Amino acid sequence: MTLSEDLRLPVACPACGSHVMRVSSIKNPDDRVHCASCQRFVCLYHEACTVLRKGAGSESEALIEKAFNRGH
Ligand SMILES: [Zn+2]
Repeated sequence: MTLSEDLRLPVACPACGSHVMRVSSIKNPDDRVHCASCQRFVCLYHEACTVLRKGAGSESEALIEKAFNRGH
């Protein structure tokens, strides 16, 4: 079992609208970040870091949307 941590993003999960994501506690840039609520892949950890740095806004939303669609 991999240890994981909750991560609150300024952008909501495109599938369910939750802001709480789950990431492995190792936090490699390429680790997959999943929605804590619907368990879907949302983005990679380095993308989540970019969104955290940029904050809420259309740029962050576009980044998450793109990453989310890539994973499905
Ligand atoms: Zn979700």
